[in-house]
Amino acid sequence: MKEAEKIYCLKRQEMVETLKRYGIANRRVLDAFLEVPRHLFFEREAMGCAYNDGAYPIGFGQTISQPYTVAFMTTLLVERSPSGRVLEIGTGSGYQAAILGALGYSVFSMERIFELHERAKKLLSKLGFGVTCRFGDGTLGWIDEAPFDGIVVTAGAPGEPESLMCQLAERGCMVVPIGRNGSQQMTVIRKEGNDFKRELFDYFTFVPLVGREGWDETVF
Ligand code: SAM
Repeated sequence: MKEAEKIYCLKRQEMVETLKRYGIANRRVLDAFLEVPRHLFFEREAMGCAYNDGAYPIGFGQTISQPYTVAFMTTLLVERSPSGRVLEIGTGSGYQAAILGALGYSVFSMERIFELHERAKKLLSKLGFGVTCRFGDGTLGWIDEAPFDGIVVTAGAPGEPESLMCQLAERGCMVVPIGRNGSQQMTVIRKEGNDFKRELFDYFTFVPLVGREGWDETVF
């Protein structure tokens, strides 16, 4: 292994120790964090920041989420829908999609900013985590590939995304941060027959989910 790879490997181990201290205990999730080379989802000059415990700008006013946030959302999904097909809304850098791929899900990921979509698609196909990317407004979902066992929305929604809820498989669940700009409550919505069950968790800060069933772009 090259020297730089050894250093990144050690940094991943440190990141996982930090996640454990924050209460992330799911072994599958922690192993996925050890496997995915997070620094490759950063511009070359920013790779040194890849394993810091924070969100980081990826251009176009968007961010790669903090490792803890990715781990928290992934754990919510893994503990409720451990396998199958997952739709991610907000590909961004592609890191969350790669983590889901490393966990063995068939991943479908949508991004509304063309440049981010293209960049992530290229990287994900090179790394081979089994992620299919699509450019477009994710608030409407991906009807041709539905239903999904899981949906992960990685941008803050103004309310429950109805089109996405309709694309959940029976007992499938969606992890989605909901609330006004700057503070969103992590929410799990699970489809049970004709009904939906909700669970509420901590508040997080996300960039807005912008689209037909999201926030209006002109507000930001
Ligand atoms: N999952 C990403 C990662 O691992 O880097 C982080 C995503 S960033 C916090 C949120 C992303 O959601 C941004 O890239 C943003 O452009 C995207 N987004 C916002 N509204 C969207 C929509 N309606 N459809 C698809 N992507 C959207």
